[in-house]
Parts: sequence; structure tokens; C-alpha cells
Amino acid sequence: MAKRKVKNHQPSEKWTKYTVKGDTVERKPSCPKCGPGYFFADHKDRYYCGNCHFMQVKTK
Ligand SMILES: [Zn+2]
Repeated sequence: MAKRKVKNHQPSEKWTKYTVKGDTVERKPSCPKCGPGYFFADHKDRYYCGNCHFMQVKTK
């Protein structure tokens, strides 16, 4: 049995999408067209709704 090599892998930082505030969990902004429950996909420079294909450019 060969020893399993451990690669330098990046952990999926899924938890960075969540912010716990007291008893509630805040997530990425939801789609204004589809309403709460439809969250934007977080891209490098924009948010994207997979449901209605609405795109919102990030402003920083
Ligand atoms: Zn939408």
C-alpha cells in the first residue's frame, strides 16, 4: 500500500459566503427579480442569477 500523497489543495471556502449575525445567517444578495431564495452566483466582478440570468456588476 503506497502512502497517499497529500497535495496542496485549496479548501472550498463555502463558509465565506455566510455571515452569522446573532441568530440569523446572512448570505449573498438575492435576486431582485426572483425574490428571496434565489441567490446570486458570486463571480469575481459580478453577481449572476441562474434563474432569470440577471447580472449585477459588483461595485467596490
Ligand atoms: Zn433572478
